[in-house]
Amino acid sequence: MIIQKFGGTSVGSSVRMKQVAELITSDKKPRIVVLSAMSGTTNKLVEISDHYSRKENEKALALVEALHQVYKNVVGALFASVTYQQEGMEVIDSHFEYLRSFAMDMFTANEVKCVLAQGELLSSALFDLLLREMGIAACLIPALNFMRIDREGEPDHFYIRQNLERELASHPDVHLFITQGFICRDAFGEIDNLKRGGSDYSASLIGAAVNADEIQIWTDIDGFHDNDPREVPETHAIAQLSFEEAAELAYFGAKILHPATIQPAKTAHIKVVVKNTMDPLAPGTMISELATGDSVKAVAAKDGITAIRIKSGRMLLAYGFLSKVFEVFEIYKTPIDMITTSEISVSLTIDDKTNLEKLLGELEHYGSVEVDTDQVIICVVGEGISSDTLAIVRIMGALEGIPVRMVSYGGSQNNISILIPSAFKKTALNSLSRELFRKQS
Ligand code: ADP
Ligand code: ASP
Ligand code: MG
Repeated sequence: MIIQKFGGTSVGSSVRMKQVAELITSDKKPRIVVLSAMSGTTNKLVEISDHYSRKENEKALALVEALHQVYKNVVGALFASVTYQQEGMEVIDSHFEYLRSFAMDMFTANEVKCVLAQGELLSSALFDLLLREMGIAACLIPALNFMRIDREGEPDHFYIRQNLERELASHPDVHLFITQGFICRDAFGEIDNLKRGGSDYSASLIGAAVNADEIQIWTDIDGFHDNDPREVPETHAIAQLSFEEAAELAYFGAKILHPATIQPAKTAHIKVVVKNTMDPLAPGTMISELATGDSVKAVAAKDGITAIRIKSGRMLLAYGFLSKVFEVFEIYKTPIDMITTSEISVSLTIDDKTNLEKLLGELEHYGSVEVDTDQVIICVVGEGISSDTLAIVRIMGALEGIPVRMVSYGGSQNNISILIPSAFKKTALNSLSRELFRKQS
């Protein structure tokens, strides 16, 4: 069994959907195809739910209307026959009727999730219909029947495996399954999701649950690049990454993969291949247990970081100080990304600001607290980078003139993280690319 996940751009138009239909039928291997919403749809659904949440129903309904029109055009171009066009229209009409119904109803966090789920429900329903019109034998298995998170928001692996196996077993003659990425149910059975970009994570969880031979992430670029192509003009696809390298890059901001994607694949020893739907013959990036031995592979950046410095005379020669500080972050379920200490102070970074005020209030009991918002973590990744002293010299040299706030070196063998103000992000990424990947040494 292989898993093939197609992202928003890959299913972003009628032409692209037909191309995906060709790709998934190019050989007869059994597979589960995981689909994202068509590109732009989830962003629109976020806007619609923002309006409903603010009781701006007119504005929400106007956006629903505009999106409905987009989908009518898609249906018009997607199906060859009038019968399937009519069926396609009925499918989308029912979803848009549902989206309009919130104007008359209350709108809480649960309703937001129901609205966001419509993107993947729409793309998968239309794609399933397309396969039927093309005479391709396939079966749509609803992610809401097997994908589930627990009370902590973590995937419920046992539930997922059991229910996915049941879904697959109830169609013994089928070799091609279609399902939705991103969407799931929570511990109470309500509709939820795996956070933005979560279809990659769905594919990896599904791959691990069925012990797949390979998980393929099909996207709009020819693989994992050595820097962020949205910020740096000249970047290159990397042929091979280890699980550890890819996990660090995804966690530290490389948008191409949802941050949690690698974990289930790594635990189940399943390779992940990143491929370009627009250029299927390009080799892409292979992510596996294999290490290439290159100590500098790629650079990524994680935005929206807040740095907190707690300064206390009591830290001097004291034990137990750090554990008290960490306890505060544990109480407010706020993960810490970077940490550095000096004799009398500790600096750390968070990206979840939900409980920032409460955190600061508690931390003030332990010393004076300073906060820097609008920071970015620049992360340079490569196997064994922490023992390559020349690499750190080159990295710090490339960042000359940029006000570095924190450096984390040695915490992981594969990563050097540097905290800088967001305003310097583009300069830093470009300068690192020039020094690490384009300079002839
Ligand atoms: P999809 O809709 O297929 O999930 P995404 O937009 O989520 O696609 O991810 C692909 C995009 O990620 C690329 O188009 C690129 O702009 C961006 N990106 C950021 N960092 C990287 C990187 N290191 N390598 C490749 N793409 C990256
Ligand atoms: N459609 C969702 C999003 O835009 C999930 C995904 O594309 O992976 O975030
Ligand atoms: Mg994505």
